[in-house]
Amino acid sequence: MSKKSNKLTTAAGIPVADNQTSLTAGARGPTLLQDHYLLEKLAHFNRERIPERVVHAKAAGAHGVLTVTKDITKYTKAKLFSKVGKQTEMFGRFSTVAGEKGSADTVRDVRGFALKFYTEEGNWDLVGNNTPTFFIRDAMKFPDFIHTQKRDPQTNAKDDTAQWDFWSQVPESLHQVTILFSDRGIPLGIPYMNGYGSHTYSFINAKDERFWVKFHFKTQQSIKCMKPEDADRLAGCDPDYHTKELFKAIEKGDYPKWTFYVQVMPEVEAEHYRWNPFDLTKVWPHGDYPLIEVGVMELNRNPVNYFAEVEQAAFSPGNVVPGISFSPCKMLQARIVSYADAQRYRLGVNFERLPINAPHATKVVNIYQRDGHMRFDDNGGPGPNYEPNTFGGPQADPSYKEPPLKISGDADWYEQKRGVDDDYIQPGNLFRLMSAKQQKELIANIVGSLKKVPKEIQQKMVVHFRKADKAYGDGIAQSLGLK
Ligand code: NDP
Repeated sequence: MSKKSNKLTTAAGIPVADNQTSLTAGARGPTLLQDHYLLEKLAHFNRERIPERVVHAKAAGAHGVLTVTKDITKYTKAKLFSKVGKQTEMFGRFSTVAGEKGSADTVRDVRGFALKFYTEEGNWDLVGNNTPTFFIRDAMKFPDFIHTQKRDPQTNAKDDTAQWDFWSQVPESLHQVTILFSDRGIPLGIPYMNGYGSHTYSFINAKDERFWVKFHFKTQQSIKCMKPEDADRLAGCDPDYHTKELFKAIEKGDYPKWTFYVQVMPEVEAEHYRWNPFDLTKVWPHGDYPLIEVGVMELNRNPVNYFAEVEQAAFSPGNVVPGISFSPCKMLQARIVSYADAQRYRLGVNFERLPINAPHATKVVNIYQRDGHMRFDDNGGPGPNYEPNTFGGPQADPSYKEPPLKISGDADWYEQKRGVDDDYIQPGNLFRLMSAKQQKELIANIVGSLKKVPKEIQQKMVVHFRKADKAYGDGIAQSLGLK
């Protein structure tokens, strides 16, 4: 390989004579418009920032590999799981949700756990979180919920009132609120948290049988959490702590690993299962659907350029490969649309052609889409740009069709609840499995935030906590000085 020249050039490759001084008319005269290199340099600088993600703006990322350790071919024909020992290259992006791109890592927040697997049949994006659930189960509420996590419209400051006001009126959020304010709400670092696909997805096997599936990545480093006082200190003096620690660990060969599991539910069981299996505010208890081991994911290579690899990484839950598919989860259905839409806005319509987003397998992409901003590959060359055609253009293959999915009912606006107590049992179960110390910390963390909001919202919240578990609600009421 020839050595890259270190001669400075313009973006068009023209050698630059002076990169320190601008061209002026005389030693004290004005700058000449013909200094096109200065103009290019300033104009490009003005355009260096692309629109920030509305959510998950602050992140660290790393490359890695997924190795299959157990045979799950009876559930899925996805080629990345076709045999034990099979390895698939992947990229992971780990983010906070609410803060801006420059915000601190060590805040109490859900963490994004977005994974892109570069499979031989295209990319599988599993765009998850470090929590198995979420605050809401219907996308209609999503922009409202996210507004409660962002800045006040008048003061431009973060304000705890909005989130508690929202949560107090959306009881399905209680499960995720309990996880968020538990010790796991501030991980010690990215290697010390679990990842979850969170939504229910589906597997389809070679016999065209459908299974509902949940994805779990359990840390092999063990769960470790950060004390709130350490997190607050680091947010001030070392706001990029998690980002730097992940980078350092990988640089020194200390590769973080997660064991990959699935929970699998045969299609017919969904209808009568005690929980709505497509409700994102619920888990499937392990006692009902045990974890089935699949493989190991290891992060082992740092990005060389943050913008190219982490900022431009674009994930969409719509990217599933044959053998893996969607479910009726309403949040998933909406994310299939809105993630790709966000990337088109943020990166442009050809975002999938960027090197970090392009499949690694050669010749996988075969499309009739043409043109658009920044189409920097051969744009389909001389090939036909319409179908049907008689010139050998790519054709759809019906063998990839999924088995039909039975649905019934009238079009209407449905709540997903299955019983009056539905939203309280699982948060209560979580509270009851915590040690006394964890319960105490959970209550202290909640009270630390809830004490800042109006009394009537506090009271509404206590009613919810009490319904989950009396000791949970009483502990909070007592610490807030409420009856
Ligand atoms: P299990 O006793 O089989 O599992 C309990 C689960 O809770 C484990 O996965 C454990 O994760 C996880 N956990 C422990 N502390 C926390 C915490 N502070 N925040 C989030 N997760 C935590 O019980 P069930 O499957 O019957 O579920 C009981 C409750 O556990 C659920 O209501 C749910 O709140 C929670 N949970 C369940 C999960 C599931 O998929 N079934 C997944 C995660 C949580 P680990 O093993 O890594 O320590």
